[in-house]
Amino acid sequence: MPSGKTHTRIDLLLLLILGGAVGYFWSPLTDYFGRDEFVEYGSVFVVAYLFGTFLLSPDMDLNTSDPMRNWGVLRLLWRPYANLFKHRGLSHIPILGTLTRVVYILLLVYVVCAVANALFDMGWELSLKNINGIDQRAILWGLCGLCLPDLFHILADRLFKNAR
Ligand SMILES: [Zn+2]
Repeated sequence: MPSGKTHTRIDLLLLLILGGAVGYFWSPLTDYFGRDEFVEYGSVFVVAYLFGTFLLSPDMDLNTSDPMRNWGVLRLLWRPYANLFKHRGLSHIPILGTLTRVVYILLLVYVVCAVANALFDMGWELSLKNINGIDQRAILWGLCGLCLPDLFHILADRLFKNAR
C-alpha cells in the first residue's frame, strides 16, 4: 500500500494537473459557469480538496495515519470513527466512505456546539432550518472536492496493493 506521504503527493500532483487543465480550458469553463461563480465555487472545491487530502482521507479509519496525526490533539475525536470502521472497509468505498466522514464531522460539530450551548449559554441556534440558507451549489462543489482525493486514494490503494 502507498504510504500516507505518497497518497498526499499523488493527490497534490493530480490537483496540479487538474489546475493545469482548468487553466487550459479557462475560457469555455468560465463561459459555461460564469467567471465569478467559477472562481467562487472553484475555490470551495480546492479548499475541500485540500481538506480531504490532509484531514479527511479514507485512512481516518486508522488510529495512526498521516491524516489522523494532522488533527493534532483533536485526533482523539476521531478515535470512535477509527474504531467503528474496519481499515479499508466502508471508509474506502468511493463517495460512500467520504459521506461517512462528512456525517461524522457534522455530528462532531453538532455535539460540540450543543455542549458549548448548554454549558455557556452561547445562544447558538442549531436547527435544520439553517441548512436551507446554505448555497446548494457550494455544498455540491465542496462534496466533489472531498470525494475526488478520496477516489484517487482508493485507486492508488488498489493499484499499488502489493507495493510497500
Ligand atoms: Zn487507504
